[in-house]
Amino acid sequence: MGQSYNIAVIGAGAAGLVTARELQREGLRVTVFEKANKVGGTWLYDSRVESDLLGLDPNREIVHSSLYKSLRTNLPRQVMSFMDYPFVKRESGDRRPFPGHEEVLRFLQDFARDFGLMELIRFGHEVIRVELVDEVSHEWVVESRTRETESRWESKEEVFEAVVICNGKHAEPKVAEFPGRDTWPGLQMHSHNYRTPEQFENKIVVLIGNGPSATDILKDISPLAKQVHLAFRGSDIMLINLKNYDNAWPHSPIECAHEDGKVVFQDGSIVEAEVIIHCTGYKLHLPFLKSNGIVTVDDNRVGPLYKHIFPPSLAPWLSFVGINYRALVFRVIELQAIWVAKVLSGKVKLPTQEAMAASVEEFYEQMEKAGLPKYHTHSLQNDEGEYVSWLAAQLDIRPPKSWEELRFFSFVKGIFAHGENFRDTWDVDKWLQEIESSD
Ligand code: FAD
Repeated sequence: MGQSYNIAVIGAGAAGLVTARELQREGLRVTVFEKANKVGGTWLYDSRVESDLLGLDPNREIVHSSLYKSLRTNLPRQVMSFMDYPFVKRESGDRRPFPGHEEVLRFLQDFARDFGLMELIRFGHEVIRVELVDEVSHEWVVESRTRETESRWESKEEVFEAVVICNGKHAEPKVAEFPGRDTWPGLQMHSHNYRTPEQFENKIVVLIGNGPSATDILKDISPLAKQVHLAFRGSDIMLINLKNYDNAWPHSPIECAHEDGKVVFQDGSIVEAEVIIHCTGYKLHLPFLKSNGIVTVDDNRVGPLYKHIFPPSLAPWLSFVGINYRALVFRVIELQAIWVAKVLSGKVKLPTQEAMAASVEEFYEQMEKAGLPKYHTHSLQNDEGEYVSWLAAQLDIRPPKSWEELRFFSFVKGIFAHGENFRDTWDVDKWLQEIESSD
């Protein structure tokens, strides 16, 4: 390799931006397709909600961001920095260690501007097809559409030598299944479409899940709602102490829902509810990718992907940045982006196609032996440290010693130790300084 290839990046969220920067640094020609009119992806708060609040209708118009108005980060800004571009406290900005979402958006906007990325981005361009047209010369057609009028779209096909997919993983809701769900008469929505609490005033609400979104939404709505019922698996650890709330109760998962409005939980308790909010996560979604069945999405496993990035038989001409979760996302996407860029510029070599395919097979076998379901494939819950060190080693980056201690789960532990108000009670700056002083 070593030539200046023409590369399409899909998405201008954090992953697409850092990928564009790294490709540009390697002297590659980059075009970023972004369906929104601004950079930021998830961090671009949108007060609109979708027409189908559960997100089941495949023809609904998608609102990309899942942010609610009150959202503050659940990781401190220091670990949402890039290696040579820290997420610093601005004089006039939100200086809290766990800032509000506007501050993250501002950071990403500054990043895009400071690295001259804005000129590379085609805003308002939604990619509707990515298809390999010539395996030998590895030509990809990227078809994108722009909205001309409310009902008319203009589409255009272009050819690229490589495509990096950075379309995010929080736009396609996963909802809970239970008998009676589709005939239950109340209002149901996914947390993807939750923005503000006012509409829940005096309502009896069931929240499904107890991850960060369920916890934040409970805190948001409980001052206004009549009752809030949290349905979750007994094995789940609680991020919130419901004893601090007069009008909130824990339950086991929903057994079924009835047409008279009753919601029955597996523990036998029954609530006559008016609203159910599914805080049940998201599905990876690649509606535009036509790869002749080479890359599939099965129960949230995008595969086969070597190290979550390259499909062996299409490498390095197709790659993914940002599909992992339960990790310090910004750190992981930056290393992934550098690796993709250096592979495409020819500075870093990939193993043979056979060796990559064998590595993916081995990974799947290990997952099976450990009893892990497919949907865990891209979770870095258990091996974030190993994965990050592996990527850094490919790139000759010597990570600071503090990286050993700073992983996603170090923060989860901190959150549990400091309780539901951790964002204000945890002196995370001091904790991070102590860890970093050991470098
Ligand atoms: P996204 O930010 O989703 O960006 C994808 C981009 O691709 C979007 O701009 C979208 O418009 C574009 N796109 C999609 N499809 C197409 C298409 N077909 N054509 C053209 N463009 C397309 N992470 C943290 O580090 N700290 C936190 O505190 C934190 N809190 C979070 C809270 C919530 C509620 C959610 C949902 C996520 C949170 N995250 C957090 C994770 C967050 O997803 C990552 O921080 C990061 O924003 C992911 O970036 P991304 O670029 O992969 O995806």
